[in-house]
Amino acid sequence: MKRIAILGSTGSIGTQALEVIAEHPSEFSVEVLTAQNQADLLITQALAWKPAHVVIGNAAKYAEVKAALSGTEIQVHSGAQALEEVVTLDSVDIVLTALVGYAGLLPTVKAIKAGKPIALANKETLVVAGALIMPLAREMGVPILPVDSEHSAIFQCLVGESHNPIEKVILTASGGPFRGFSREQLAQVTRAQALKHPNWSMGAKITIDSASLMNKGLEVIEAAWLFDVKPSEIEVVVHPQSIVHSLVQFTDGSIKAQLGLPDMKLPIQFALGYPNRMNASFPRFDFRQYPSLTFEQADTQTFRNLGLAFQALDNGGNQACLLNAANEVAVAAFLEDQIGFLAMSDLNEYCMNQGTFVANPTLEDYIESDKLSRELAQEWVNKNRK
Ligand code: NAD
Ligand code: MG
Repeated sequence: MKRIAILGSTGSIGTQALEVIAEHPSEFSVEVLTAQNQADLLITQALAWKPAHVVIGNAAKYAEVKAALSGTEIQVHSGAQALEEVVTLDSVDIVLTALVGYAGLLPTVKAIKAGKPIALANKETLVVAGALIMPLAREMGVPILPVDSEHSAIFQCLVGESHNPIEKVILTASGGPFRGFSREQLAQVTRAQALKHPNWSMGAKITIDSASLMNKGLEVIEAAWLFDVKPSEIEVVVHPQSIVHSLVQFTDGSIKAQLGLPDMKLPIQFALGYPNRMNASFPRFDFRQYPSLTFEQADTQTFRNLGLAFQALDNGGNQACLLNAANEVAVAAFLEDQIGFLAMSDLNEYCMNQGTFVANPTLEDYIESDKLSRELAQEWVNKNRK
């Protein structure tokens, strides 16, 4: 029985993880549930799953959660600090990082230091500080098990290949709702259009990132750290059907791919169950319904975020941390209709260029770079508001 801490249990990944756990009651139990603002759903989940601990990030909602769970054995905590403590509990066997954004970094560092395997959905952690996380995980002997579908695909292709060098990883991208759009068209797109992803139903931030190809950029950086590949060994291909989840090319030219319907429950289940494959009842891929799978070149001229991510990875140091912070501010401003769609990549580039470069950042440097880049980004938004 693996006892799981789910950070971000009320989100898209968190709720799907609970569905996976519900299908495998003899394999998994829920030890910790956490959410930032959604007190109602957190309470419902806690009453259903009876974890030992829950954390509500927003301190203003603590009293509500505490009152609703009084009379149960469940311990209620609040605040960001509590996240860093619950992941270290002896009773936690694996931590699923299903929270969004930079907020994942510090709890993940604490969990690794406490020797907990990480099922990593929170790609921002590796984008911000992959150079710190991966050596720390190796030192602690802790596996980082990817949940992101592309990285899960590559990870699944690499099972049994540990002695064989990788020549290239090929990340597939759906292209999002604006595939084929010109920059003139992108200048006009609205928040509502950007929130409609053709193949996946996900949280708001990653949905906007998918529309702007920032998500693929973040995934390029995530792949570089997870699989120890250079920027030149990572390729992105647009594959609108989202059936081939990604590919690995070995030094003999052979390519392995992992396929399946677009359903995050499979990569979640593979990470939680690793090294075992468990049964799953979800629908199967049927080639009759997909007579053609197509592939096309990604358009980095139009979707500049993807190019910026490669650049940040090439430059190293704290560049990807600066980019990530800028992007979190940019997405929030776009969602509040303060800036347009194309302004997001302008803002990202501005913060990469204006932020102070640190070649070999410590954890404190990452924390500081994140803060400074957010400040720069917020000033930019204030000046360039629509
Ligand atoms: P979501 O917005 O649906 O859920 C986010 C969760 O994190 C919620 O439970 C929320 O309460 C919590 N949260 C938000 N801000 C927080 C903060 N500051 N501190 C602590 N908790 C906070 O997001 P999601 O779509 O489930 O994505 C979660 C992570 O998984 C992201 O890093 C995303 O890139 C990654 N991911 C998601 C998908 C997907 O299909 N949704 C696929 C691949 C990777
Ligand atoms: Mg992905």
